[in-house]
Formats: sequence, structure tokens, C-alpha cells
Amino acid sequence: MNLTEGYPPITATDEELRAALEAAHVPSLMNALVHVSGDISHIRGDIRPVAALFQDPQGGISREDQTRARAIAFEVLKADRDGGSQITPRPSDDAIEEMTDYVIGEGVPRDYKQFLHAELRIDGQDPYAHPSFDEIPERVRQDFHVVIIGAGMSGLLAAIRLDQEHIPYTIIEKNSEVGGTWWQNQYPGCRVDNQNHIYSYSFEPHDWPYWYSNRQVLFKYFNHCADKYGIRPKIRFNTAVDSARFNESTGRWTVTVRPTGGAPEEIVANAVISAVGQLNRPRLPAITGRESFEGVAFHSGEWRHDVDLTGKRVGVVGTGASAFQFVPEIAQQASEVVIFQRTPPWMGPQPIYRQPIPEEKHWLLKHVPSYYEWYRFALFWRSSEGMLKSVTVDPEWTERGSVSRANQTMRQTMTAYITRELQDAPEILAHAIPDYPPGGKRMVVDDGNWLRALKRDNVRVVVDPVASVTPTGITTKNGQAEAFDVIVYATGFQASNFLMPMDVFGRDGVELHDRWAGTARAYKGITIPGYPNLFTLYGPNTNIVVNGSTIFFAECEMRYVMGCIQMLLSQGKATMDVRREVHDAYNERVDRGNALKAWGTSGVTSWYKNPDGHVTQNWPFTLLEFWTQTREPDPSDYEFIEARVPVG
Ligand SMILES: Cc1cc2nc3c(=O)[nH]c(=O)nc-3n(C[C@H](O)[C@H](O)[C@H](O)COP(=O)(O)OP(=O)(O)OC[C@H]3O[C@@H](n4cnc5c(N)ncnc54)[C@H](O)[C@@H]3O)c2cc1C
Repeated sequence: MNLTEGYPPITATDEELRAALEAAHVPSLMNALVHVSGDISHIRGDIRPVAALFQDPQGGISREDQTRARAIAFEVLKADRDGGSQITPRPSDDAIEEMTDYVIGEGVPRDYKQFLHAELRIDGQDPYAHPSFDEIPERVRQDFHVVIIGAGMSGLLAAIRLDQEHIPYTIIEKNSEVGGTWWQNQYPGCRVDNQNHIYSYSFEPHDWPYWYSNRQVLFKYFNHCADKYGIRPKIRFNTAVDSARFNESTGRWTVTVRPTGGAPEEIVANAVISAVGQLNRPRLPAITGRESFEGVAFHSGEWRHDVDLTGKRVGVVGTGASAFQFVPEIAQQASEVVIFQRTPPWMGPQPIYRQPIPEEKHWLLKHVPSYYEWYRFALFWRSSEGMLKSVTVDPEWTERGSVSRANQTMRQTMTAYITRELQDAPEILAHAIPDYPPGGKRMVVDDGNWLRALKRDNVRVVVDPVASVTPTGITTKNGQAEAFDVIVYATGFQASNFLMPMDVFGRDGVELHDRWAGTARAYKGITIPGYPNLFTLYGPNTNIVVNGSTIFFAECEMRYVMGCIQMLLSQGKATMDVRREVHDAYNERVDRGNALKAWGTSGVTSWYKNPDGHVTQNWPFTLLEFWTQTREPDPSDYEFIEARVPVG
């Protein structure tokens, strides 16, 4: 298997071929030509991308050069079609290295080579492959039962990986459907902010209809995965996990589950994988009088489709990522939308944000051998570490509103964009530029939709802080009273309340949240001292702000978890408990890293921090570092506890 296999032969007419090439990402296309023709000279000429900060999608290749590249591609693909679409030999390792440098427009740093080559899946290998279970007898595997909590993106991934190694498991899901976030968030306009070719499992490429798909498409994707990999029969839907208790004498967990409307039941498991997400439990603000409102009020994560907003006066509290997506939608129906803004969001312009992927691009992704892989790879690189430098604190930097020169450049670029878009609306512009540094809070992706919505006659932004909710509406600090039929709270989730509202009792019977005392932490985001064989996915400090996609992190985490299970089974151990000193040293380093990021600076409040101002959500380092640290567990990080009841 190499990158050119698995593509159907090209049968397009000359005309179709030319039209498709118009949609091509030229750097990926040029690399694909090397695969198709076996000729490396295609990337040795003067048509070359160059890396840049806010990278041009075509890597700065001029229009004339793009036309030349397409003409070359036309001839190569036509010859391939007319010659019967042969599978060419895989380019040499040196050639692949040259191609990776070419597609991203700069030399790939040496440390990254192994990581990036794995992600590219040269030779079809699995970039997140875990250690082999081949030596472990089937009987031993069958005796190890895992409970997975949650059937969202992370829980399904856990199930797929366990299935591959014939490890039995049960998924407990409180909802009636899979998909987690993408099932629960049904607000109008909900969509992903990472391009889908990277917001997808590495092993499950998809013919995405949009560059950034809406929730309906993502929900379908995760359903498709649940069916394709045979996960659904092993999910207990409409059942919540109330608690999990570790029994030191058996080395097992007792998980108490509660089917909706039913009596609690206990499931005994050798390991528990928590895949409950960070953004799952809506957070309602503590505003005086919130309960007194006599109209309809709901949280954006619990959208009330039974409430018709046509002709209604709607108050929206919050201007985070969800409001950013639904306000332009509801403004078309409501008679009036009043947005209560504490801080405006920073936004990165992206004209294709809500655009469907054109037919020609679909054709390229499906038919041009290796084009999909190079395209995903180019996106992966562009959305990975490039931006991280721009949100890193320079301790010498003193200018307000930014944390370094690169951060200031980012600020200027985005300020120029917002200013240009709002030049005809100075009263909106006056409150549209954030005073915190870019990266301090979650940035949103914009195609102009939000700013256009703010300019509508029926939309207003109120910047005076909310003082109270009254039976008829909202009153602000300066006494301004607004009357509403409906209030929507776009106030985010209880993100730093990890694993809530479950009770989790560890080795010494201490409940996990008591142990955390408000500051959740875990080793590599995955294991917690005193809680053997409990693994958390999308756990503390595994969220990303500007680099990567959460799915990348989940795949790394699950590879590590599989490594842990493999280690237990191959060594005949019952449980593993991370050493406290290893865990503490790791977290101190993470804390230091977060303190040097825009989101960790004092004066910035966000859901990335817990109420004490401690950054519990984010990963402050590179993707490479996360990938490397989760390759396989180091046994010396753990204390292994023998089972009183022998394993196997
Ligand atoms: C609106 C929105 C947009 C996002 N956009 C992006 C993006 O653009 N890029 C990106 O990288 N990330 C994004 N994320 C973050 C992340 O990718 C998603 O939240 C993703 O769905 C996380 O998957 P998960 O399976 O870990 O958690 P979830 O999707 O939250 O799934 C958790 C599941 O666990 C279940 N569960 C929870 N508690 C229990 C319990 N006690 N018992 C039983 N079941 C339980 C829930 O019902 C849910 O089904 C976004 C998140 C949100 C909310």
C-alpha cells in the first residue's frame, strides 16, 4: 500500500480535468504529480510555495505560476488517464522529505520529520498505532473489561481502538444518540472551526460537503463511524454514570449507572475510560433574578426548537463562539436581537467558512492519487505550530493588548480586518476591537457574517454590564432596561468542572473532585495518582487554542491508553497508578508553559481558567510534543499493583 493506491482510475474528460484543476491547492497538486508520474522534477522548478504567518492558501504562488502548474498537471493526469492509470512506485524517503518541505514552503524542522511522516501515512501505516497486542492471548484480553463513559468523538474512538484488539467494553451514554457536542449543540449555525480534513479521524477520511461542516454533517459522520465499526450495539444509551469506585482488593472499578427513569445498576470493570468531554454541561451565569424572567429562557447548548423566534424580541447574553454562530441566523427571524457583550471576540477572516466544497475539489480529493493526503498534511501543518509562536509571551514585551511582537502583528492584522468591515458603522466599531491579546480567549472564524449581522437594523450591542434579569427582560448597571420575549444564554460550559457531576472514588476512598479541590489535573491529561486504571480523554490541559484539532489530541491520548492496557496485560498486572511525583513535575511544567501563553496572562478571564484563575484546559506546547509524549507509556512513571485475584 502506498499513497497512490485506493484511488479510482481517472476517467474525466479533458474539459472536466481542466475545470477540476482550477480548484486545486497547487502545492498539494505538485506533490501529487510526483507520485503519479514518478518524476521529482515537478517540485524542483520555480513554482514554489513559501511559508508565511497568515498563510495564503496557495502558499504565495502567483496567479501566473498557478496557471503554469495547472497546465503541467493537466498533461500529467491526462497521460495517466490515457495510459490506464498505473500505480507508480512509492517515492524514496529522500524524495518524500523534499516533498514535505516543498508543500509547506520551508524546511521541516528535523524533530518533526518522524511525526509528520507518520501523519502523512506514507506506506499506509497508522500514525496513531499503539503497541502490538499480538503476544497477548485472546483469553487474557477477553478477561479485561472496560467501561467507556460517553459516546462522543472521544468515546467512539476509544471503542474503535479497543475493538481492534478484541478488548471487551461497554459504553455508557446519557444521551439517546452518539456524537456528544455535535448532537447536543443544536443551535442554528453551529459548525466546526477547524477545517474538516483535519477535524476527522485519521483512519476515517470523508467526502466532506463543507470545508467547515455544520453540526448536522458532523453528527452524521460520527453516526457513520459508530455503524461502520460496529460500536452501536455496545452502547447503553439514555444511561448516565453516577459514580465509579475503585476496589483495591480486586483491582477493579465498580461503576454505578442509572438508566433514565430506571433503578441504578452496577458494572464491574478492569478499567474506566472517561470520555465525557470538556464542553458538555451548560454554564448559566449567576445573574440576580435569572429565575424571575417570565418569558422563555434557555442556554444555547439546549436550544429550544419548539420556540419560534419569528417576530420576537430576543436578548443574547454572551459573545463567544456559539453566539457568533447563531446570532446571524436568528437575526433573520427575530424582530429585534440585543446582544449583551462583556468582551468582543478576536476573529480570523476565512471567506470559505460556510461555503460548500465545490464539485471540482471533490473530484480532486477523490481521484488524484495522494492529493487528499498531501492536502490534509498541508492543512495540518498550517494549523499546527505556525500560530503558537504568535500567542507566546515575550517577558520583555510591555505594550498593552499584546504579548509579543508576533502577537502584536496578529492584533494589527485582525484589527485592520474588523476596522475595514465596520468602516461604515463607527458606533459598532467603537466596541468591536478586543482589549485583550489575540489568543487570550477563543478566537472565532469569520466570513463577515457576524459583522454583517451587527450592522442590521434589528440588531444592537449593549456593552454596559448586565446587572439583573427581571420578569420582563434585562437591566444593565447604568439602569437601562430591555424587554424581551426570549433570552438566550450563550455563556459556554462548565469546562473546568472536569468529570462533573460524577463521583469518582480512588484507592484511598477519596473523591476525585475533593482531591482536585477545584484545579483538575492529570498526567499527560490522562492518568491521575490514586485512581488506577482510570484514563481520561480530552482531560485536563488537553484543549487547544490556536494549534491543531481536538481529534488529533484524542487519537494521541487513546494510543497512550492502549499502550497502558497492553503493558498491563503483557506483564500480567492488574492495575497501574501514576506516581505522584511524576504527575506533579509534569503539571508544574504545564503550568509554567501556560503562564507564558496569551491565555495564561493575568487580566484575561476565559473558560480556559478555573475560578481561581488557574489554566486547567489548555495544552501550552507544540503538537509534536503531545504526539511524542503519548507514543507509549514509560513503566517507570507508574506503580503496578498486583491483583489479589490473578489476571488471566
Ligand atoms: C460548539 C462546539 C464547537 C467546537 N468546535 C471545535 C473545533 O472547531 N475544533 C476542535 O478541535 N474542537 C472543537 N470543539 C471541542 C471538541 O472537539 C468537541 O467538544 C468534541 O465533541 C469533544 O468530543 P468528546 O467525545 O471528548 O466530548 P463530547 O462531544 O462532549 O461527548 C461527551 C459525551 O459524554 C456523555 N456524558 C457526559 N457525562 C456523562 C455521564 N456521566 N454518563 C454518561 N454519559 C456522559 C455526553 O452525553 C456526551 O455524549 C467544539 C466544542 C463545541 C461545544
